[in-house]
Amino acid sequence: MNFLSLIEAKREGKTLATEQIQEFVHEFTAGGIPDYQMAAMLMAIYFRGLDTAETTAFTLAMRDSGDVLKFPKDPRPLVDKHSTGGIGDKVSLPLAPLLACLGFRVPMISGRGLGITGGTLDKLDSIPGFQTLLPAEQIVAQVQKVGCVICGQTDTMVPADKKIYALRDASGTVPSIPLITASILSKKLAESLDALILDVKFGCAAFMQTKADARKLAKAMIALGNKCGVNTRAILTDMNTPLGRAAGNWLEVKESVECLEVGRADLPVSQAARQRGPTDLRQLVLDCAAHLLIQTRKAKAPATARKLAEDCLNSGEPRQKWDEMIVAQGADLKAFNRKLALDSTAPVVVEVKPGKPGYISKCDARIISEVIRDLGGGRLAKDSAINYDVGVDRMAKPGGRVEKSGVLCRIHAANEIQAEAATARLKVAFEISERPSCC
Ligand code: URA
Repeated sequence: MNFLSLIEAKREGKTLATEQIQEFVHEFTAGGIPDYQMAAMLMAIYFRGLDTAETTAFTLAMRDSGDVLKFPKDPRPLVDKHSTGGIGDKVSLPLAPLLACLGFRVPMISGRGLGITGGTLDKLDSIPGFQTLLPAEQIVAQVQKVGCVICGQTDTMVPADKKIYALRDASGTVPSIPLITASILSKKLAESLDALILDVKFGCAAFMQTKADARKLAKAMIALGNKCGVNTRAILTDMNTPLGRAAGNWLEVKESVECLEVGRADLPVSQAARQRGPTDLRQLVLDCAAHLLIQTRKAKAPATARKLAEDCLNSGEPRQKWDEMIVAQGADLKAFNRKLALDSTAPVVVEVKPGKPGYISKCDARIISEVIRDLGGGRLAKDSAINYDVGVDRMAKPGGRVEKSGVLCRIHAANEIQAEAATARLKVAFEISERPSCC
């Protein structure tokens, strides 16, 4: 294969044939194409794009570069959710056990955080003993037995995406709709799913800053997912404000477990007082579950699907399923529960005060995520170590009221100096108005 002529063809805006794409993905994965040439091809794709047939060929070639999970026949549909990445976005954690309790099998292959967005695997790594790297046979066995797994890609799953994503990260070619579509769907197709729900974020802390761009990405992924035989839907959600009230690895695990807890048992399940965890997180978890119930025809109407999901969450079963899942993945349940009972695992906790009373009109997800990354909770480079205990909780959210002596958020830091620096930056993340800004 003359790869240089393919780079030139794409540079000139020509269409590549399926066989040409299959061959260069195969060659690159096998080490036969140097990084500098592949980076040039990715930049040509970034500027010229890929049409639907090219994106399909690229996605399937990446999927087929490694193992595809094989599950035994089973009446429980195989489903998953994928988010394009957000701050405080911990939906996968409560969603996987909820879906398992609703009669699905959930082979959730997740990623690590890079830059400002958090990663599900990093959150789970804060659980004592929990193993995120499982061989393919163990993933399949756990899904069959427990109903859900949340783990990382194995070394032999979609190796082409692993190599290409690293190169995109280093060559400024991440924000390209065909490349993001192929990267995400190649991994989801390797899970052999029946249905997939995509949570495409837009806003100041998302890949796609505008709702219009998020819609374009969602449409591309829905079309390709369905074309490849996976019933695919998407929801567009706001990422100008963090999801929930906590951001930071361990703090998000705590908030996820809270979302699964059952509140006061003396009240009817439908009453708000029985609900635990922040409302926005709970709503998004229920939305994702309801879509998957419809997609797999387990429910006919949205209202029925929603009720099924809500009743299941309120039953407390998903909370037990969570324990079952983490124990199956090596967690030390006693140590986990001891950690859960602590108010904080960080050496320093400080409250950020508003200084004046009023209504929150802004809680900037980008500033908050940058502060958490700089506290040590996120990574600037792929292999940097992270601090699982740092982060922000008790965040005031837009529309809410704060008093002068109230709390905008709490910072969990490794030391006083870091907490002080974070306090100054976080004050800017919140805007307070005299009147509620909505309506
Ligand atoms: N997540 C991925 O897995 N791939 C992308 O290209 C972007 C987000």
